[in-house]
Amino acid sequence: MNNVKLSDRLQLLLEQVPEGSRLADIGSDHALLPVAAVESGRVPSAIAGEVNSGPFEAARRGVAEAGLGNKITVRRGDGLEVLEPGEADCITIAGMGGSLIAAILDRGQKLGKLSGVKTLALQPNVGEDILRRWLLGNGWVLISEHILEEDGKTYEILTAIPESSGAAGGNEQLYREQVLGGGQVVCDQALLLQMGPFLLQAPNKVFVAKWQGEIAKLEGILTSLSRSELEAAEEKRSKLTLQINRIREVLECLPKDRL
Ligand code: SAM
Repeated sequence: MNNVKLSDRLQLLLEQVPEGSRLADIGSDHALLPVAAVESGRVPSAIAGEVNSGPFEAARRGVAEAGLGNKITVRRGDGLEVLEPGEADCITIAGMGGSLIAAILDRGQKLGKLSGVKTLALQPNVGEDILRRWLLGNGWVLISEHILEEDGKTYEILTAIPESSGAAGGNEQLYREQVLGGGQVVCDQALLLQMGPFLLQAPNKVFVAKWQGEIAKLEGILTSLSRSELEAAEEKRSKLTLQINRIREVLECLPKDRL
């Protein structure tokens, strides 16, 4: 049996899974994460959920080839529907947009599938702010955020626990206004949701590059709008300019120890 070698992205996600968890990986595709989690001894058993037939078959093959059919169950279904309430205590969802992950969690929560879940480890490809907003609005508290670059793409990993578990300070403290650069920039809740409360506290080079890229995108939109004389375009230009300036100010005031 050859141990599966994970990408840096999935390896970092795996590291957020508490040891000994009953893991459910939703949207598992080839089941790489649950296979690595069980092979490495991090978790005793796992469930791999997949909605689409191709990835579902790939997951079954991956588990069979690893010889782990007795420890990993592959189930076909939409989102958290594949779980019985109380069956998993850590859920990982990776490689989808933040709004799809939030929709999966939302449906699952309404069906009681998140009861007993102690950790959510999530890796949205885009729309991290949407996911942070869902967690905040639904009783989950972020306990860590990571950002990494792999093969020219930037990924964020958000880990959350239930607010009811008494996470120190909870969401109130997490999204309280933060001051950067000795008071020059005040990060309000909207900005913390957009950029990430932990990432703003301990930014690295990847974080800075991501937001420089966002500035470049917004400037591109600004340039294309500059050709329009419509009143609505003028309004949009002012909003974009404010956004760009805000991100620039934040980047200038970030703590520099990891940059
Ligand atoms: N999680 C793996 C990773 O990060 O490498 C695979 C990511 S792949 C890009 C996204 C997977 O999510 C696809 O295999 C897709 O079939 C699955 N998926 C999308 N929506 C889903 C849903 N509602 N329920 C379960 N799986 C879903």
